[in-house]
Amino acid sequence: MTTVGEVHTFRGPVSTADLGTTLLHEHVFVRDHELEVNLPDPEWDPAAMVAAAVDGLRRAHALGVRSVVDLTVPGLGRDVALVAQVAARSPVHLLASTGWYAPSALPVTFGVRGPGLLIDGPDPLDALFVRDIEQGIAGTGVRAAMLKIVLDRAGATPDVLRVLAAAAAAHRRTGVPVTVHTDPATHRGREALELLGRHGVDPSRVILGHSGDSEDVDELRALLDSGATIGMDRFGMEHVLPDDRRVRTVLALLRLGYADRMVLSQDAAFYSRVTPPSWRRAHAPHWHLENLPRRVLPMLRAGGATEEDLHQMLVANPARLLATAPVAAGARTGPAAREEER
Ligand SMILES: [Zn+2]
Repeated sequence: MTTVGEVHTFRGPVSTADLGTTLLHEHVFVRDHELEVNLPDPEWDPAAMVAAAVDGLRRAHALGVRSVVDLTVPGLGRDVALVAQVAARSPVHLLASTGWYAPSALPVTFGVRGPGLLIDGPDPLDALFVRDIEQGIAGTGVRAAMLKIVLDRAGATPDVLRVLAAAAAAHRRTGVPVTVHTDPATHRGREALELLGRHGVDPSRVILGHSGDSEDVDELRALLDSGATIGMDRFGMEHVLPDDRRVRTVLALLRLGYADRMVLSQDAAFYSRVTPPSWRRAHAPHWHLENLPRRVLPMLRAGGATEEDLHQMLVANPARLLATAPVAAGARTGPAAREEER
């Protein structure tokens, strides 16, 4: 049984009190298994990439990073058995995730499988998400600590809503928090909260990923005032927005008192089929796991962020979000149950 304050990592359960500095939105390897078979990328060498990831995590650990959530869900080439080889040799707590990365459409097989469809039966997504969280991913025994869904530019297509409903159901059952990949330019944060709310997900359990791509402080405040946490999670993606401007927005929100609802991360990867290592080295040289400790935290401190602010965003908020309530059969969850435990 899961107890309050316990979270699953690649190497088993740990107390959320032991997570330390935690990056809630990163990737180890973003792949495309079909492309690997049919149009291989010469930069993808599994043994070399595992070694690079182990090295990178060791360097991040030396800079104070203690826990990293790998938000590589299906749709992004998730391969937990391979990442487990990295986790086994890394001093950092690595956490796995479930959900589906579907900006507009799921694979065609889902179009015929589900309630009322040609191959009638329960939605396979429901079983997948719950199994990943409660039993483990793809036979590895590694349990997912976070759900991730997408609400991007394409908006709430039928498949996007299907993934959202399945994730909400898995959240209600397990208490695992939900990260939404949003597109701030099309105001998807607001829409995500509204849609998740209809499925019984409280904003306090939601992280609106990629909110840091926005510099609209008023709109970000509206999201924060709902009780949601916003992901200022793409430091180093300077081809989207330079870090000094990302820092300016975080500082503005800190001055307004929102330290308890922001999390900092980088959306980095040791390998991505989308933007391979050679492209990143040439065009996004700061987009890696060490950017926050080496460059961004000094910028935040220079701009007036206190050590208390940084601890709140890097340690306290991730621990609060990752802690789940008891989920044993028949266990009561929610505020009333927690009240009784005091
Ligand atoms: Zn990501």
